[in-house]
Amino acid sequence: MNPNASEKRYEHVIESLNFLYEKHRCCDEGTLATYIPELSKADPSWFGIALADVDGKVLEFGNSQIEFTIQSVSKPFIFGAALDVLGRDEVLKRVGVEPSGDSFNGIEFQKGERPYNAMINPGAILATSLIPGSTANEKISRILDILSKAAGRHLTIDENTYRSESETGHRNRAIGHLLRNLNLLEQDIDEVLEAYFRQCSVLVNTRDLAVMGATLANMGVNPITGESVFGIDTVRDVLSVMFSCGMYDFAGEWAFRVGIPAKSGVSGGLVAVVNRQFGLGIFSPRLDPMGNTVRGVRICTDFSEQNGLHAFNFTNVGSRFVESTWARTGN
Ligand code: GLU
Repeated sequence: MNPNASEKRYEHVIESLNFLYEKHRCCDEGTLATYIPELSKADPSWFGIALADVDGKVLEFGNSQIEFTIQSVSKPFIFGAALDVLGRDEVLKRVGVEPSGDSFNGIEFQKGERPYNAMINPGAILATSLIPGSTANEKISRILDILSKAAGRHLTIDENTYRSESETGHRNRAIGHLLRNLNLLEQDIDEVLEAYFRQCSVLVNTRDLAVMGATLANMGVNPITGESVFGIDTVRDVLSVMFSCGMYDFAGEWAFRVGIPAKSGVSGGLVAVVNRQFGLGIFSPRLDPMGNTVRGVRICTDFSEQNGLHAFNFTNVGSRFVESTWARTGN
């Protein structure tokens, strides 16, 4: 693309996101998550948006540099890491790819045998158990490494949130014991859970979420550092599950209305991935009753609608790879 055309493209995106930032800034609907005491200390007015594209261009709006804990937005990346280590068949023996239609911490299993999917707590805790390492320390250093490579900078853990989660995580402990009871998890449950609590307490900012999304959009290669983080088959599997299961019990509505693979978390973060194009990060801690960031859902709905980004929208230009293959072969 010639440089002028490329700048024009960004002008349009900047204008569109600026407009949406202003439009939704005054929205004060939703409430902070309080079941993890540390999360209730967030300032409800925080609001950041960032977009990173597969060419490594990053656009930021509002409080895009404020750090918050990643929470469930870590789940697709750790699922991806487990797929890369063990391969799809081994992972799918232990965790499904079916939407549960229930809340993130629902205690239920597909046919009573395995977690529904890795975007909700039972499957996510199971995915953490599949990351190499027998102790929490060994696992978390692998997890930090993967998340940091996807974000393109060294990430750290918020110790206060970790302690807060560990002290109050009785429901997640119950899930861990059930996974053990189903013979899905052979490791020391406490070590797996401590690794999971720390995984949820990794500090990121909105820009990081955008770059992590762009790493998935860019076939698993971080577009800024050029580092390969996930295999291409893994990216396809991760995006598929984000598409069908990433937005808690709003996942079906989301796929229908927004049509972009995404994952949200209870601290108010959201990552959305437009395949082969860009990652979009949003942070706003006020949540709707299903646990999704209110502003995040509205921005993505509008942004998708205005730009024809729904996967099945006739205006979606689809994969650049396909475009360039066509251009090369002349078909
Ligand atoms: N650490 C949270 C939990 O396991 C993550 C929940 C979420 O973001 O959905 O309860």
